Amino acid sequence: MFEKVLIANRGEIALRIHRACREMGIRTVAVHSTVDADAMHVRLADESVCIGPAPSRDSYLNMAAIISAATITGADAIHPGIGFLSENAKFAAMVEEHGFTFIGPSPEHLSQMGDKVEAKITAKRFGIPCVPGSDGAISDAEAASIAEGIGYPVLIKAAAGGGGKGMKVANSAGELKEALAFARAEAKAAFGNDAMYMEKYLSHPRHIEIQILADNHGNAVHLGERDCSLQRRHQKVLEEAPSPALNAGQRAEIGEIAVKAVKAMGYRSVGTIEFLFQDGQFYFIEMNTRLQIEHPISEMITGIDLVREQIRVASGAPLGLSQSDITFNGHAVECRINAEDPETFMPSPGRITDFHAAGGLGVRVDSALYAGYKVPSNYDSLIAKLVVHGKTRNECLMRARRALEEMVIMGVKTNIPLHQRLVAAPDFINGDYDIRWLEKFVAK
Ligand code: ADP
Repeated sequence: MFEKVLIANRGEIALRIHRACREMGIRTVAVHSTVDADAMHVRLADESVCIGPAPSRDSYLNMAAIISAATITGADAIHPGIGFLSENAKFAAMVEEHGFTFIGPSPEHLSQMGDKVEAKITAKRFGIPCVPGSDGAISDAEAASIAEGIGYPVLIKAAAGGGGKGMKVANSAGELKEALAFARAEAKAAFGNDAMYMEKYLSHPRHIEIQILADNHGNAVHLGERDCSLQRRHQKVLEEAPSPALNAGQRAEIGEIAVKAVKAMGYRSVGTIEFLFQDGQFYFIEMNTRLQIEHPISEMITGIDLVREQIRVASGAPLGLSQSDITFNGHAVECRINAEDPETFMPSPGRITDFHAAGGLGVRVDSALYAGYKVPSNYDSLIAKLVVHGKTRNECLMRARRALEEMVIMGVKTNIPLHQRLVAAPDFINGDYDIRWLEKFVAK
């Protein structure tokens, strides 16, 4: 097992990784930008190294500085966390070249799944159901006949896409040319690449993702699904597990497909296969080759510490569990608490004057906040994750309501009022929502 792990991240996820390391008897190295010198993960880690100024590209994305920090502190391994360099194949390769272990998948799997067209081709090859569409990048000339083949409406997507950019719906042949031109221009500006592919447009899907865990020895398991359909501008707001839309048979079936595919790929580490789910059918959208923000809800219903397992398999240890060891207990939700205006969604950075985390049975708060901490304006606005577990979905939602009432975060605006509205909304209580529901709800 590793003796010292460098955590190449910040905020609540850096703290989450620190906690797992501590419980495993592993020493930690925090790296931080100048504005994060007083951050919680820096205070709690055994050692810390400043890797640059506030802008991410100069600090948390500064590969050379992170490798230097690992060298001077004598770390064995680097945990990239979420976002930043976590899915960067070049960084993973660099980490390994310098003799450290990258706590994540191989650089090959990172680059394979990082390219959306290649990811889809790979998924299809390994038996994962995909959205009907083009088999790769398309020319303007091919577009019309492919669209006729799959049927309108179609969605034009950028091969290099991310964050929902470079996507455009065409409802009819008449709209196709303009939609393609629009998406190409947006993708060119955002990614410097205007390669496009096409998919059937699904009108009312849910976002359902399967958590997998695999080791270096050909073993893999799934930890069931998370329903992340509550999104605003492609950003997840509240997630739940299990999904109110799946039955046990569907769960087992898609879980088995996911496990078979990751085994066939030779994938190692944690990962998530994301699907759109509509009318009983699953359609692959992408694979996230890292830990996810919403991983705690899977931990709550399975009792498995995903970060601990991720570190164990990275060290070369075989998975300590098989599929039959994994049982699903009760229900969990996660409310992502952001420092933002609950109505305009404008970021609200600033000094936290008072902080009190909710507690009690079945409540977990993952947050790096403390009274006096200043939320910087340089990074994303997630400041806390309120994760709640209950024996039933109803118990879980009752508990989420009372836990939201207990949370005190003063000095910045937060989206807690939005979460309070959400957990009281009849459609949500009935589990009756798709990926477009929240946008309509917040517009009301
Ligand atoms: P990105 O990498 O830009 O986030 P994704 O492929 O993950 O792109 O898609 C982003 C979002 O767009 C999905 O979460 C879903 O809301 C929507 N979407 C993607 N593909 C389709 C589709 N074929 N039909 C309808 N909506 C889609």
